[in-house]
Amino acid sequence: MTSQPKRLPTLPEELATFHAARSSLYRLVFELLRMPPRPSVFDAAKRTLDELSGAHPAVERLRQAIGGFDEQAASRDYGQLFAAPLPKVAMRCKWPNCGVRDAAFSAADTLAGGERVSELHVLAVLAQRAAGAFEEERLLEAAAFSDVQAKLLSFHAGACLADLAKELKAAQTPLYAGIGAALAVLVDEDLQQLGYSGDERCPPRST
Ligand SMILES: [Zn+2]
Repeated sequence: MTSQPKRLPTLPEELATFHAARSSLYRLVFELLRMPPRPSVFDAAKRTLDELSGAHPAVERLRQAIGGFDEQAASRDYGQLFAAPLPKVAMRCKWPNCGVRDAAFSAADTLAGGERVSELHVLAVLAQRAAGAFEEERLLEAAAFSDVQAKLLSFHAGACLADLAKELKAAQTPLYAGIGAALAVLVDEDLQQLGYSGDERCPPRST
């Protein structure tokens, strides 16, 4: 098996900024998907996106998605997508028994949850820790937090969250399709920046 990073940014402060932006974006998508939307969540998301302007290709996508927020429509759409007797978007991870997934939850000091959105939370926590470590130039620790995310993304969450993004886009509600599009960009960019090649992935490759 080969495990080679495709390319690595260099300066600690650049890496700190990179991981901090990723952390904020994963946290936002997690907050927007984990429960029916509340105006306070959207207001906070808009403020965060303003602060992140230009920091990541997913920022504009997410800003567009939540720009026309309508609480009533969002609640209705959330119910249809996630809570109906036959939800269009499954909450559960299809491959929860996966070593790299367990390792990432453990590194984030988080109990392993079976829901796909919990992977967003874990990535947000690990990216925040990587950012803090790079900022303070604790480079070995930063590299470890970066590595566990790279493995989670490369061998599990890259496929799992890309599927989630695809299902959100297919559901054709403007808000959640937009969040799905932003998530797809976020994961794709991460796989390019942090991804490993290798054959140890838990889920089968999505086609
Ligand atoms: Zn998963």
